[in-house]
Amino acid sequence: MSVSTAPKAAKIARPKVRQTKMLIGGEWVDALNGETFTTYHPATEEKIADVPRATAQDVDRAVKAARKAFEEGPWPKMDARDRGRLLTKLADLVEAHLPELAALESLDNGKPITDATNADLPLVVDCLRYYGGWADKVHGQTIPIRGEYFCYTSREPVGVCGQIIPWNFPLLMVAWKWGPALATGNTIVMKPAEQTPLSCLRMAELALEAGFPPGVINVITGFGEAGAALVKHPDVDKIAFTGSTETAQHIMRDASQTLKRLTFELGGKSPNIVFADADLDAAIAGAEFGLFFNQGQCCCAGSRLFVEEKIHEKFVGRLVERAKQRRLGDPFDPATTQGPQVDKDQFDKIMDYIGRGKKAGAQCVTGGDREGTTGFFIQPTVFDNVTDDMDIATDEIFGPVLSVLPFKDIDEVVERANKTLYGLAAAVWTRDVAKAHRVAKSVRAGTVWINCYDVFDAAAPFGGFKMSGIGRELGEYALANYTEVKTVTMSLK
Ligand code: NAD
Repeated sequence: MSVSTAPKAAKIARPKVRQTKMLIGGEWVDALNGETFTTYHPATEEKIADVPRATAQDVDRAVKAARKAFEEGPWPKMDARDRGRLLTKLADLVEAHLPELAALESLDNGKPITDATNADLPLVVDCLRYYGGWADKVHGQTIPIRGEYFCYTSREPVGVCGQIIPWNFPLLMVAWKWGPALATGNTIVMKPAEQTPLSCLRMAELALEAGFPPGVINVITGFGEAGAALVKHPDVDKIAFTGSTETAQHIMRDASQTLKRLTFELGGKSPNIVFADADLDAAIAGAEFGLFFNQGQCCCAGSRLFVEEKIHEKFVGRLVERAKQRRLGDPFDPATTQGPQVDKDQFDKIMDYIGRGKKAGAQCVTGGDREGTTGFFIQPTVFDNVTDDMDIATDEIFGPVLSVLPFKDIDEVVERANKTLYGLAAAVWTRDVAKAHRVAKSVRAGTVWINCYDVFDAAAPFGGFKMSGIGRELGEYALANYTEVKTVTMSLK
């Protein structure tokens, strides 16, 4: 792999960090006990900023502010069109500050500025606009029932929503969570990941500028302890969580005390299936993008690459050539295509999996090592001739490590693709339309891409079967996560 030493385009300047405090009830505040934690730039391991470390007391303060805004503020009485207009205005403000927000993502997360600018941020803007459009279109039904009654339903906000998000797409996760929650009239307490709080805080600043009333959006910064306090809080009506399956299990246990509504978007080990009759150029590009995009830190990463035996050798050879072309380096260099992993914990976890793959006898055909000595860079790594039982074939690695598994025919590959606890996404590459749809129908996954990978749109629902999640984000489906249905029956006698 090449390290980008001679960039053609000028490097993007690092952004100024404007906001490091928490937002509670419209005020920018420190933690009540004054504690902070430090965030680091993953490419250099240099300190970025100190951010408040919230405890249960701060969470309680934020929940009270969200409750007040829900019960007493202008928010519940606001015309749905005006709520939608605020979301649209926030979308406009994000668009106007797109370079600054993209640079904050690169600083906090380490993702290449080109990806943050061209992938993450445009999807954020789209998502906010999309849900701005939904605000005045969420309605109930009139239902014919037996007897002389008039029966109708209405859709009401769930109330105070705790939203806990990860570090891999920090701002996009904010948009996926805020969009449907705000369109339907809920109030929010959000906890961004401890690795990447800065872009969320800046976006909260923009939300105040857009005119969201105090207390409608609250942001607390901190670790899992703050997330757990939010989950346990009796006055939080719902938790929306994106992150690891293990943390979701904790959350489910903690939420059982108050029977909160829960939606989860979790991990995966998604099969990417390439048949011999596929457009190989497209499939090779899709295999590379499907795994290595965002340094492999995608819940839907195509980490199990099933390749039909007939083309296996040729395919892997060309894929390895592509993997070697990836340019690792400074996230602020527009020529960089792969940045560092987000932090030392993730780096260590991935390196451990690479070691386990080698030990298990999988063939490491490229990569397999750290890149450089500073920052959490890992070489794009491809393991060939992986078997279904190896850890690198069963576990979510969340890094730039691809497992190639050869297969013979469609029935075999579908059965093997489904042999996982997960069911988030899958892809199939073939020119045979019937075969593509047979696979799409048989694979147990929330999203199936045919001859493409990682195609996201605010209008298309996304979420997991099995242990990959509960509920769907995006599209009309996400609105159901944030509304309660009320049935009203009136006697006509
Ligand atoms: P995590 O699930 O621990 O963290 C995600 C969020 O949950 C963070 O905001 C964190 O502070 C919070 N959290 C942690 N413990 C909590 C608790 N007990 N109660 C409430 N909130 C809590 O993820 P991680 O440690 O950052 O990453 C570990 C693994 O998770 C990764 O290696 C990857 O496999 C997976 N992951 C998946 C996604 C995804 O998009 N599905 C995103 C990030 C990480």
